[in-house]
Amino acid sequence: GSTLGILGSGQLGRMLAVAAAQLGYRCHIYAPESGPACDVAAAFTRGAYHDAAALGEFARGCAAVTYEFENIDVAAIDAVAAHAPVAPGRASLETAAHRAKEKRLAEACGGRPAPWRHVTTRAELDAALAGIGTPAILKTATEGYDGKGQVRLKSPDEAEAAWATVGGRECVLEGMVSFTHEFSILLVRGGDSTSVAYPPPHNEHRDGILARSSVPAPETIAAQAEAATALATKLADKLGHVGLLTCEFFATPDGPVFNEMAPRVHNSGHWTIEGAATSQFENHVRAVLGLPLGSTALTGISAEMENLIGDEADAWRALLAENGAHLHLYGKHEARPGRKMGHVTRVRR
Ligand code: ATP
Ligand code: MG
Ligand code: MG
Repeated sequence: GSTLGILGSGQLGRMLAVAAAQLGYRCHIYAPESGPACDVAAAFTRGAYHDAAALGEFARGCAAVTYEFENIDVAAIDAVAAHAPVAPGRASLETAAHRAKEKRLAEACGGRPAPWRHVTTRAELDAALAGIGTPAILKTATEGYDGKGQVRLKSPDEAEAAWATVGGRECVLEGMVSFTHEFSILLVRGGDSTSVAYPPPHNEHRDGILARSSVPAPETIAAQAEAATALATKLADKLGHVGLLTCEFFATPDGPVFNEMAPRVHNSGHWTIEGAATSQFENHVRAVLGLPLGSTALTGISAEMENLIGDEADAWRALLAENGAHLHLYGKHEARPGRKMGHVTRVRR
């Protein structure tokens, strides 16, 4: 078959579908609701991620299946895998979907996360605060993104309120890392076990949401890229990962601190559409379909991607008028504060 299956209907799925179409593949989206990816896909099946029968039916028509986000149950992957190859595999999904699991794996591979504790009860939160101190960040173990499901604690007195904020769910408590910069490693690993990384972007956040990614990164990051890439490669090898693997890092005077990982294409890699010889989306599609990987080299001197968040997408007219600005709008019907509506990439040649 020449159909690629994608679980998830958001903008990442949409950009994957566009990349797949360029390689002659049709995409079939499976998601609980229609979203940006459905506008460009050949087919859409509305279905729940726990509906094994529907997932199996969907997978039967696909050459391979991938997913655009990690908040799906591993059982969904198993239901799909019975009928079509699925990548990244269940080890990648299971690990990257859980903050404690990904930190443990990073440690086992010689990486260094922020000081952290696994917290499953109110009493464990007190013990963790005693061990780690404040300031600290309490994060739900699963399902957080764009800074959601997180609460910062300035003092142990805030434990009760913080525990209420996360709804008493399984969490990790992290010490605050004092970093100079944030960056990510975008690594793509093929079915033949070889992997290749993009030049690491410098990532700047606003209100816990990625605002801007730029390459090449400043020297502070460049100096830590080799160690970080080595860790990402080890993680990918250990997981038998196939596809894009994104690892976020804090650059500190003591070297890179591992933050989190995503078993998928990532917002900090959107600049690769115009800024790299092969985009992260195309390389992910290639990996998932067992095709040779493409060059990750920069197409220009530098590239920077800016997210259009909430009403910022209203600037589209001005951006269309700007020479060299590559505008991407995701076709979301409703702007909400903090919602990613599109992005713009500028490449210097
Ligand atoms: P994403 O949208 O990247 O998936 P997320 O909701 O999973 O985000 P994190 O990446 O854990 O959240 O945190 C969001 C941002 O908050 C980080 O990029 C960083 O700026 C800040 N942050 C998170 N953890 C720490 C920490 N331990 N020390 C200092 N800053 C932190
Ligand atoms: Mg995250
Ligand atoms: Mg993050």
